[in-house]
Amino acid sequence: MQNRKVFKEGETVILYDPDKDNQLAYRLKRGTKVNLHKGLLDFDSILGKEDGTVVKTSTGGNFIAFKPTLRQFIMHMKRDTQIIYPKDIGTILLYADIYPGARVLEAGIGSGALTLGLLRAVGKDGQVISYEIREEFAKRALENIRQYLGEVENHTLKIKDVYEGIDETEIDRVILDVPEPWRTLEHVKRALRPGGIFLSYLPTIIQVKTLVDALRAEPAFCAVEVLEVLVRNWQIEGLSVRPFHRMVAHTGFLTIARRLRLPEEEETASRGEDLSVSDQTEGLKELPQ
Ligand code: SAH
Repeated sequence: MQNRKVFKEGETVILYDPDKDNQLAYRLKRGTKVNLHKGLLDFDSILGKEDGTVVKTSTGGNFIAFKPTLRQFIMHMKRDTQIIYPKDIGTILLYADIYPGARVLEAGIGSGALTLGLLRAVGKDGQVISYEIREEFAKRALENIRQYLGEVENHTLKIKDVYEGIDETEIDRVILDVPEPWRTLEHVKRALRPGGIFLSYLPTIIQVKTLVDALRAEPAFCAVEVLEVLVRNWQIEGLSVRPFHRMVAHTGFLTIARRLRLPEEEETASRGEDLSVSDQTEGLKELPQ
């Protein structure tokens, strides 16, 4: 987002109703009024105002106008695909150790929910490369990214099947949200630098089992971990202090693995030097004097 404080045309506003404790999301358009349960709200009265300002409807009803957080934007943005939900994105960012300056490869881009989290985490010195087979999905994702982050320079999109190959090398992290990630392991092995992290998001445990078997059969990967993220909201109202009755019980599983440097990938030049030094030391010890 170019300006995190002031509301501009085309941006999303979150209208929080303090009486009902609920939130609505709207795209701000000049000259437009919306009919809310508390009266008409003129968007012109929000444009130019700062984040967190109280705005009034025609009948004096109050709403608070907030800039959407990334979590709110993701939940309200237009989508043509399933998305990775904020609870999983948050965990992915830390468990795949996405750091400022990292080069991250993801597939597919879908609606761009995960991409938004990745772009923000790698920052302007990092890079996110997204592979996607469906051009129309990619278009929607790019619109979502532009709407929330403005023009970004740290993103590259390729209309390409990740099962067919990965062009890049020396990638720090690979994050996959495709149905058959085990088909990419040969490519990921070549693309990911030693020490790099592979993470796959999958909806069913049968897919997870196939992936874990494939990862364990490949000596270039180790430290395989599988987990899911359960978030349970609580109601805190008078004596009713308890979890909400409903929760999202399942989204997907995260499978994580680490790329190691295989013995045959050791740099022979430096090993040669080390060996000759240690050989020499041994040799000296053995000298009779
Ligand atoms: N992570 C995304 C959602 C991805 S949905 C988000 O958070 O919004 C899965 C996407 O993977 C779809 O857009 C689909 O077209 C794409 N896809 C499926 N198989 C693929 C492949 N082999 N290579 C590249 N993209 C693929």
